[in-house]
Amino acid sequence: MAKPKVATASLAGCFGCHMSLLDIDDRILKLVELVDFDKSPIDDLKKFTGRCLVGLIEGGCCNEENVEVLREFRRQCDVLISVGDCAITGGLPALRNMVPLKECLEEAYLNGPTVHNPQRTIPNDPELPLLLDKVYSCHAVVKIDYFLPGCPPPADTLWEALVALLNNQPVKLPYELVKYD
Ligand code: SF4
Repeated sequence: MAKPKVATASLAGCFGCHMSLLDIDDRILKLVELVDFDKSPIDDLKKFTGRCLVGLIEGGCCNEENVEVLREFRRQCDVLISVGDCAITGGLPALRNMVPLKECLEEAYLNGPTVHNPQRTIPNDPELPLLLDKVYSCHAVVKIDYFLPGCPPPADTLWEALVALLNNQPVKLPYELVKYD
């Protein structure tokens, strides 16, 4: 029987949440017995090969490509999970939301104290994904089924959530796995 599929993506994130998934240590062997990874940086598969049971999203949306990827995950995955604070709140990248985008770009490319940019240009190649006016949480863009907070969420939290879903159970994690005090 075909195994259920899991897909993962990093949008505006640092890959720390993916590192936490790998931190399940030898349970990764059990995981690959239970599931096939579909589109994911873990197996470097760039495109979906079919419908997935679970999609794990790290990072919020800071550009149009993030939005496109997130919408595709919503279409392709039965259950979509926001993994980590960047996906849930925008996280560190959302610090730029306090400053107008134009000022952010000018500081980064023109006026910052370490900038060397004699041509005084701000990158605008058409191949670059357009930045959004601010960084958005994933649930501001698509419906999200579960939220796993933390920066990053602990490996045990990710493991328990996946095991529950693979057993057709709702994700109800004990307080110990979702407390951050
Ligand atoms: S929540 Fe933390 S670990 Fe995860 S992508 Fe954001 S900064 Fe990285």
